Amino acid sequence: MFEGAAPRRHLSFDIRSRPSDTRAMIELEQARQSIFAALAPLPPEPVPLEAAVGRVASEPILSPIDLPTFDNSAVDGYAVSATDLRAARPEAPVKLELLGRVAAGQVFAGKVRPGTCVRLFTGSALPPGADAVVMVEHTTRQGDRVQITKAVAAGDNIVPVGSEAKRGERLLSPGLRLDYAAIAVAASTGRSRLLVYRKPQVAVLATGDEIVDIDVPPGANQIRNSNSYSLAAQVQAAGGEPVLLPIAPDEPARLRELIADGLEADLLLLAGGVSMGKYDLVEQVLAEFQAEFFFTGVLIQPGKPVVFGRIPGRVPSGAGATAGEHPASPPTHTYFFGLPGNPVSTMVTFELFARPVIEALAGMTPRKLMSLHARLKSEIKTKTGLKRFLPAILSGEFEHAEVELAGWHGSGDVAAMARSNCYIVIAPDRDCIAAAEWVPVLMM
Ligand code: AMP
Ligand code: MG
Repeated sequence: MFEGAAPRRHLSFDIRSRPSDTRAMIELEQARQSIFAALAPLPPEPVPLEAAVGRVASEPILSPIDLPTFDNSAVDGYAVSATDLRAARPEAPVKLELLGRVAAGQVFAGKVRPGTCVRLFTGSALPPGADAVVMVEHTTRQGDRVQITKAVAAGDNIVPVGSEAKRGERLLSPGLRLDYAAIAVAASTGRSRLLVYRKPQVAVLATGDEIVDIDVPPGANQIRNSNSYSLAAQVQAAGGEPVLLPIAPDEPARLRELIADGLEADLLLLAGGVSMGKYDLVEQVLAEFQAEFFFTGVLIQPGKPVVFGRIPGRVPSGAGATAGEHPASPPTHTYFFGLPGNPVSTMVTFELFARPVIEALAGMTPRKLMSLHARLKSEIKTKTGLKRFLPAILSGEFEHAEVELAGWHGSGDVAAMARSNCYIVIAPDRDCIAAAEWVPVLMM
């Protein structure tokens, strides 16, 4: 699916054409599965290697040559013929004549004959005639002779030609997000430009009559807009390009206008207005755009009212510029999320659902959530029925990993979120977790 841009597939999952009063509540795993099934990457574009970190490769990187290109030494020592040293041991050292030295990058003109050796350094090319390297630690230099106290076998301490990669071998596959090691692979194969998938444009639209922007002092009962900014930061970290829209009031005409603007992007993130209150208009207005809803609620807390779907009819920029064998894509969709407006709910639902959508549009092979186990510092009491993601602080390492709640005062507590570095994950059937129990932890 990620070899070039595959045509977009249609979802078989529970698409509803209209929101209803009874929300389609599904489990977390089912919700994430429907996301992974839905999406294909955006078209590729070339970028210089220096700009490729964090982008997703859309082509494989093959080795154009054998790596390494010559037999070389893995250690500091002496190139020898292993048969000369068959009997070498501390009580019976073997003496060899020293012919010269090969620094890294140099080529030795002579040849290692029986009874001789050549000084090498890590990375030095193995001179002809030698079939092993003895480490300098097992030798004593005596003028133009070297006394050696250890036997070696043919091949010892040599990195053979082609042992890291054969010519034509695939070193990186499409779908990999390029980190510093992948950049090193591209550099070592001489690639100064790489084909990567286009970055998804992600429109961010905060909604709510009570929300004011950050440079406006909030009046009585008003709240500063933090969601647009936290979402923009999360979009960037996920590999997308955020586009901030003005705040939408809880009023259908203006909301409709701003949603229409947001549909120019590859993905639209709405925050707020998806609970079931009188002023929660987001689903209703999305439905006017012929939205298909994949889910309108997930059995999690925080974040239960999260909505995911798509709106048809948009031709993506760059359609037709796809990887060659596929014809121009047909008119396709803009995906959208209605994320709950409580800032912690917005952040959690972004990480669980919106991040994988951005990653898939950016061409990344789907990946699992990053989790580990840690010992709970103090008891947690909660209610059953929903899978919970509680902001928490992980301390200690490995077998000493310990975790405690971040002292969370509800879904609006961004300061507690900022103190946290993970979530404690609580299964829906648990209402009490005892201190010292090992609990699953999702890393932020
Ligand atoms: P809603 O999901 O629209 O019902 O909003 C739930 C809560 O989140 C309300 O208390 C809002 O004040 C708060 N909230 C909604 N949008 C934002 C935002 N953009 N920034 C900060 N808080 C918000
Ligand atoms: Mg609201």
